[in-house]
Amino acid sequence: MDRPIIIAGNWKHNPDRIVGESLWREVAAGTMSRKSTVGANSTVKVVIFPPAPWLGWLMSGDGAECIGNGFPDSGVIEIGMQQISDRSAGAYTGEVGAAMARQFGARWALVGHSERRTLFGETDEGVARQMAAAAGEGLCPMLCIGETLEERDEGRTCEVVSRQLEAGLSLLHETEQYAVAYEPVWAIGTGRTATVEQVSEVHQQLRDLLQQKRGAESEAVPILYGGSVTPENARSLLDLDVVDGALVGGASLDAASFLEILEAGIASA
Ligand code: PEP
Repeated sequence: MDRPIIIAGNWKHNPDRIVGESLWREVAAGTMSRKSTVGANSTVKVVIFPPAPWLGWLMSGDGAECIGNGFPDSGVIEIGMQQISDRSAGAYTGEVGAAMARQFGARWALVGHSERRTLFGETDEGVARQMAAAAGEGLCPMLCIGETLEERDEGRTCEVVSRQLEAGLSLLHETEQYAVAYEPVWAIGTGRTATVEQVSEVHQQLRDLLQQKRGAESEAVPILYGGSVTPENARSLLDLDVVDGALVGGASLDAASFLEILEAGIASA
């Protein structure tokens, strides 16, 4: 089945406002200049996950101007939340829920990123609730899963990612949309990318597991790779049939690098 290639940038807790505005402008201009192949109904999609305050700016005139025809309706770049509450509106200080994020332009939500799991104590159960909360309000959750170096060395990669995948999908209804990002924890922000053999093996296992657990409809679910993706290694990873895109952290903070990775995505689509 032909799935679109998704090139996603996770800005994490970066950048400051001045740097962020010019980063956005360059990425938006570069994406717009490729709009014959990139966009909501095209073979390649671009998704940016900025810190939450950027959503307001992106919905405003300033942000909208950056990509010309009106944002987010132009659909050339889609925006996502890096973190979403598992609760609906109410007395939950500090939380931002899926319905509100959607009203401010979000179309996606990262769920279960390894930094959330390891630094902020998120559990498989909490991740499952966030997946359901995001999908229930019409966001497309991107479930991040991956093994630590210790787990890989113990030969437990398949067991760990299977457990995280099953748990993450456990509260989703059959018709709800989602994506999966395989991100080996040891490859995130370390400059150490998984080899194409390692990526192929895990992605194939995930695809088989999705097929077993969620049936033929899971064919439409994109499985992205994340973990030190750079312009240098993007093409070899994106050329793999089992890889439907890249979730890019560090390299998404440099417009030229991100656009080169986008170019690799276009070439492999
Ligand atoms: C990430 O944050 O999801 C990520 C993959 O980061 P990096 O590309 O920096 O490894």
